[in-house]
Amino acid sequence: MTFEPAALQYAMDALEPVIDARTVEIHFTKHHATYAKNLNAALEKHPELFTWTLEKLVSSLDKIPEDIRTAVRNNGGGVYNHNIYWASLAPRQSGQPVGELSKAIDSTFGSLDIFKSEFEKSALARFGSGYCWLSRKKDGQLVIHSTANQDNPLQENMIPILVVDVWEHAYYLNYQNRRADYLSQWWKIVDWKSANDRYLAAV
Ligand code: MN
Repeated sequence: MTFEPAALQYAMDALEPVIDARTVEIHFTKHHATYAKNLNAALEKHPELFTWTLEKLVSSLDKIPEDIRTAVRNNGGGVYNHNIYWASLAPRQSGQPVGELSKAIDSTFGSLDIFKSEFEKSALARFGSGYCWLSRKKDGQLVIHSTANQDNPLQENMIPILVVDVWEHAYYLNYQNRRADYLSQWWKIVDWKSANDRYLAAV
């Protein structure tokens, strides 16, 4: 069984005007799909790894044979991270966190506005390509952090709740080099219900 990108739960143009259809199309059908293709090609050299879950592949890199470790780190991470990125988004959202996650954000960061400000700061500070995450540590604490390239929270023993892709390909057509503008608009399409579902599953 090979690895494939998780299916999008909305149309390519559904995130407009925040993210234009062409950007979603290239991002999903080219970038995300290529990570899956390259992951599968690497695993062909050690086909027993096709029985592993994607989560296990990207969080147990020390157990991956050295000749494909970097390929699995980059391409497995590319498939996994984008799956969560697309699942973090949905058309026409309220902008308001829901459920237990909403309470946890307030109690951890003080308010939604403070959380958003700290999240944007972390996403802007990620030099080059990567992601900014809201994750849950094993002790239950919520944390904002960023990762380089295709690294992810599982590698730091945390569970991802929400993620923004800050690779330029995620926002280039609409926003060019203006990552801050992309981030400030991005909140309008955050699917807080799915984030709360991931939070509840992690608890
Ligand atoms: Mn991307």
